[in-house]
Order: sequence, then C-alpha cells, then structure tokens
Amino acid sequence: MLYFDNAATTKPSETAFSRARAFALEQFYNPSALYNEGYALQSELKKARSALLSKVADESAFELVFTSCGTESDNQAIFGFAKRGNAVTTAGEHSAVSAPFAELKNRGVIEPRIAPLQKDGRVDVSALLALVDEKTSFVSVMHVNNEVGAINDINAIAKAVKAKNPRVIFHSDGVQAYGKIPVRLSKDVDLYSISAHKIGGLKGVGALIKRKSLVLPPYLIGGGQESGRRSGTENVFGIMQFAYAAEEKFSTLKADFERLTTLRERLWEGLDKSVYTRISAMDGTPYILSVSAVGLRGEVLLHMANDKGLIVGTGSACSSNAKSRYSKIVLACGYDEKTADGTLRLSFSPTTTLEEVQKAVTILNEIGQDLTRRMK
Ligand code: PLP
Repeated sequence: MLYFDNAATTKPSETAFSRARAFALEQFYNPSALYNEGYALQSELKKARSALLSKVADESAFELVFTSCGTESDNQAIFGFAKRGNAVTTAGEHSAVSAPFAELKNRGVIEPRIAPLQKDGRVDVSALLALVDEKTSFVSVMHVNNEVGAINDINAIAKAVKAKNPRVIFHSDGVQAYGKIPVRLSKDVDLYSISAHKIGGLKGVGALIKRKSLVLPPYLIGGGQESGRRSGTENVFGIMQFAYAAEEKFSTLKADFERLTTLRERLWEGLDKSVYTRISAMDGTPYILSVSAVGLRGEVLLHMANDKGLIVGTGSACSSNAKSRYSKIVLACGYDEKTADGTLRLSFSPTTTLEEVQKAVTILNEIGQDLTRRMK
C-alpha cells in the first residue's frame, strides 16, 4: 500500500516503540505511587517532558503538560483562557479549535471573531490585527494548516497581537508543525499544542506547552497529576515513545524538510495539469501537497486511488465526520465549490521514497483521466 495520508496520522516509529516497550510491560507501575518502582517513573516522565519541550522552547520560560491528544490540548487552552470579551481565531483552524470557539459562542461566554485567510492559506495578518481590541482575551492562530500546509509566522503574529493588547493570551495549534518545521517559541507565545501521532508517536498522546508564568486552569480534575493541571494517570509508555520518536524526528528535521520539499515538487511536476490544479503554496510545509481535480469529486478519486493501492486524504481526516461536503479551508482560501469538492491532500513522511512518489503520480493521473472521461 502506498501511504500518502501522513497528515492524518503517521506509522509509529518502531525504534521508539522498542525503546519504550519496557514501560508498557515491565515498568508498568503507577507513576504517582509512593514505592520506589512507581516513584522512579516520575524521573522518566521528567526526562521525556524536558526532551519534548527543549526541542521548541526555552525550559526556563516554558513548561509542558501531558494530555491525551492535540484536540485536548487545544480545548484546554481555549476553555481555560477564552473567558471574556472577544476571542480571535482564523478561518483555517482545525475543528479542535473552531468547534470550541463555536461552543463558547453558544454558551454566550465570548464573542468569536474569525480572521480570513489569504489565497495561500495563511491568515490575513492585518485583518486579524484589526479584530484585536482592548476587549480581546484570547487569540489562537495555527502554526501549519493541516489541509493546505500553509505556514503562519506565529512568533511575528504573536508579537503584533501583544503590541495591540499586551493582556491577550496567545495560543497556537502546533500539531502539524512540531518536529517538521524549525521553530523556537518566543516570549509572546503563551500556549502551544502538540500531538505524538503526527511524528511517529502513538495516537492518544499529546501535550500543551505553556509559558511558566501562566496559571493554566485544569480541564480534567481528579488525582492532581501533572501538578494539578491535568488529572489522570499518565500514559507512561505513550509518553516515552513520543519522546523517543521526537528525538529521532528532530535529529533529521532539516534534512527531512529539504528532501520532502524536493519530493513534493516531483509529485506536483508529474501530475497531469489538465486534471489537477495546485492549491498548496510553494513556501508551505513540505509535508503536505493539496491539489484539486476541479470538476471531479475528491471523495470519488480517494476511493478509486484506494482500490489501486494508494491512500490519500481529501482534507482533514476529522472533517470526514462534518456535515459539509466541501473543505471549508479551501473555500476560506477563496476557491470556489468545484475546486473545494475536487480537493485531494497528499501528505508525506520522512520514509516516503521517490519510487513511491512516482507510483502515486501514475495512479493519480490514471484515475483523474479515467473519471474525467466518465464525466463527459
Ligand atoms: N490540530 C491539527 C492542526 C491537526 O491536524 C490535528 C489532527 O489532525 C489536531 C489538531 C488534532 O490532533 P489529535 O488527533 O491528536 O487530537
């Protein structure tokens, strides 16, 4: 099977899995237990926390809270801090951000303000800044867009937001960026969400990075784990495997970035331009290439590709549960419904090879031409 849906999830790293194995089967103790076997796991968690955090932030200014996924991290940030006045986000956000904003609107807690996107999928920064005023309590801008791959300069945006209102809490969803795009969080970023399964970790493990001086309201309360910020017995195996997978991923981040940029362009060059139009910008993440077979249905192409052994996405895997047939992100970039309907998302991993890209190109061209003929 040719797997080109790595933005939905990646194959777990076997090396990281083997290294962490003992934490599932031998050191299975409860890390909150008082006896030595349990207590010893606290220092392992501390090492993992520090390893994951230090890759993107200064440990003297930031700390990391383990969660069960990127969605939980986003929810905790939003429900914890978008509490009064208005809160600003973008039209490009994953539903893990857009749905909590809608929920807070329904509850009458905040007035949500949504900044538009540019054609390349990045947020229109001047429009975003125009929405920030003295009543803004919270701003959330995703780092890398999961459908079209656009990269927002979150440090620059956070700085400009704080210049307008220094009391704003600034959050960024870094789920598609962590381990893939070089970044050091600046002092203007308060909260940053990450998830293990996008970089060779397991599903069900995530973290919320927070500025140390910020008091994070707990979202789950109970046994007081994670210094009271997130109760629930820690998934020690999943966390250790995440830390090992991140270690691997960050050690090749730059080389992967360059190699995948080349592969992404090879894929695009090979596609039949009478069928496919490019949506992803050249300066977006090399991990995602979004294209549209304008006039055809992306979902039909997805199944045709699947039958030929190629796995691709049509947008966010999570939005397959959504009511709308069209990708709201592609529409928000200013494309029409036909383009949005024909969207396919091809997403890469460091293990993707040129041979796989060539095979994917052949299949995509075959099915695109076949469906075009049948539509006539
Ligand atoms: N945010 C973005 C940008 C994503 O791409 C995803 C997953 O696709 C999430 C959040 C949700 O992460 P998780 O699957 O860990 O809940």
